[in-house]
Amino acid sequence: MVDPSFNFRDETRFEFRVRQHDDRYAHEVFDEPPFDGLLVSMAIVEGAGGVGAGRYTMAQRHRLRRVGVRDFFRLERFPAIKTMGDCGAFSYVREPEPPYSTEAVVDFYIDCGFDYGISVDHMILGFKPEFDRLLPGVDVVPAEWRERQRVTAERAREFLDVCARKGARLEPVGVAHGWSPASYASAFEELQSLGYRLIALGGMVPLKTHEIISVLQRVSQVRRRETDIHLLGIGRCEHVPTFAEHGVVSFDSTSPLRQAFKDDRDNYHTAGRTYSAIRVPQVEANPQLARRIRAGEVDQREARRLERACLDTLEAFDSGKASIEQALEVLVSYETIHDGERTRGTQYREALEASPWKHCPCKICKDLGFHVILFRGAERNRRRGFHNIYVLHERLKRTLKEMG
Ligand SMILES: [Zn+2]
Repeated sequence: MVDPSFNFRDETRFEFRVRQHDDRYAHEVFDEPPFDGLLVSMAIVEGAGGVGAGRYTMAQRHRLRRVGVRDFFRLERFPAIKTMGDCGAFSYVREPEPPYSTEAVVDFYIDCGFDYGISVDHMILGFKPEFDRLLPGVDVVPAEWRERQRVTAERAREFLDVCARKGARLEPVGVAHGWSPASYASAFEELQSLGYRLIALGGMVPLKTHEIISVLQRVSQVRRRETDIHLLGIGRCEHVPTFAEHGVVSFDSTSPLRQAFKDDRDNYHTAGRTYSAIRVPQVEANPQLARRIRAGEVDQREARRLERACLDTLEAFDSGKASIEQALEVLVSYETIHDGERTRGTQYREALEASPWKHCPCKICKDLGFHVILFRGAERNRRRGFHNIYVLHERLKRTLKEMG
């Protein structure tokens, strides 16, 4: 969420702001929502057993389950947005078994009122296509991988039973996990025979695109015409036509959002390429800088002066009153004290020369101007993430249109 009262010039906000009430979700910021569906992971909400607490406060957890996902995320105005619940298997990948019972997961899905619910699954961390070419009788597949695939299949069977018994009104989604094209295909086939009409392929985030396609090709040999595929965590828009040929109807991805503030360089997306965001950390809020100031390596007043100079010069640059050279000079001076290890001068020059925010039609870029590319504080960084989601969605819409 972002705070609509935040003032980017003086960095103040409405003093009586109530987060839950006043802050805005991505779908409330744009004229049209920049996505077609919302996936909520139980592990993020509730925590994953012994693996740590979720990201929601106790009050938020209760409210989500009491009012449901549509009310909680204020989706009533957006009936076209579908909601999907999953377990967040990545957060318990190190555990021997999923920390949730099928009962508990189905209860969570029913309370939240999701349109789609993904059965409890367990990740397999490894991809060995060469295992498909072993001679009969030779088995080198780690026992743990087979066990995880078995647990996932067993939970998928149980999921249908529990959903039926509790009268859940969601569309059940089974998850296929494997370590090679053939092992994914056999998991897929089993789910299909259990009655799943929508099957997610999980554990593919670390895979290269040609590996994903090799799995899809193998799955195609067993897939019935009416079975649809969801790709978990894969947002590779350039391959959507190929994915679609193999029965993929949907995917989810956090990477446009996360790259805005987690990636080392691909922070601001455009249709053609990505740009590095321009780091202007707040002297007070940057742990590395604070440490150097305490250690006496950096003069605090000098740091504050350079921080201010960066913001002022960038604003002047954006309105044509300062040159790229002037902007780079202060940015690099500030960088040597907040990040002594590297220089991003070349990346910053590319970003400033292109000034991509001036060409982006999205509401975020129109409202924020150059602030959208500043790596500085959650209000800017999250909005850059929203912009990236918008870019992905526009690209997806174009691709789908071209595909007819
Ligand atoms: Zn934009």
